[in-house]
Amino acid sequence: MREPALPILPPRPPRESIRQYVADTIRAALIAGELVPGQVYSAPALAKQLDVSATPVREAMLDLARDGMVDVVPNTGFRVTEVTPRELDHITEIRLLLEVPIMGEVAAATGPERDAKLNELRPIVDSMVDAAERKDLTNYLSADATFHTRFLALHGNDILVATVRQLRDRTRLHGLKAVADAGNLVENTNEHYAMLDAALAHDRPAMEQIMRDHIGHVRTNWAAEAVMAQCRGDSTAR
Ligand SMILES: [Zn+2]
Repeated sequence: MREPALPILPPRPPRESIRQYVADTIRAALIAGELVPGQVYSAPALAKQLDVSATPVREAMLDLARDGMVDVVPNTGFRVTEVTPRELDHITEIRLLLEVPIMGEVAAATGPERDAKLNELRPIVDSMVDAAERKDLTNYLSADATFHTRFLALHGNDILVATVRQLRDRTRLHGLKAVADAGNLVENTNEHYAMLDAALAHDRPAMEQIMRDHIGHVRTNWAAEAVMAQCRGDSTAR
């Protein structure tokens, strides 16, 4: 069994939200590839890394198992599920079908209440810029999920929001670390400000284009870096 590597941890939250903190941190670490597919991790070892007791980690891992992100290995721990490039393509295809038109709808909608809710999302993007500058992938991905979930929720379809959230959790952005290391994560973050601006301007075509580009990163620059790293790893292994 491999010792977990969670190099950058967000600041510890108040006690009542420990379970949520653990769940969000582990989800983000899975998406960023900091928890490695195929590897088995034990709840006590992860708990030690996160400086919490094993109970919230076990609870979070069981939630992740239910969502298909890890498999339970009896008496040992949890194996991180592998997502193939083909599966990533399929996930991306569905996200494009759902998120592009719905975000277009959100942009086309009107009303002062909607605008107030949009403006509440701006500080979340500020925190993403902050995390991007610190190359803090865990906090970055956690804020990214919150931003997109709340933005989509403005459409008023809870089932759609839950479906997209699940698809996002199954996405693997193993190239994100390379993007962050190259200092390009802040640039990607600016797309989120552009989404807010497009919605406030009721510019549906602009929003749909931003969303196509944004979701497309999963299978272009972010993933490409990962594939290259994998190829390099494979050739040295042989
Ligand atoms: Zn995003």
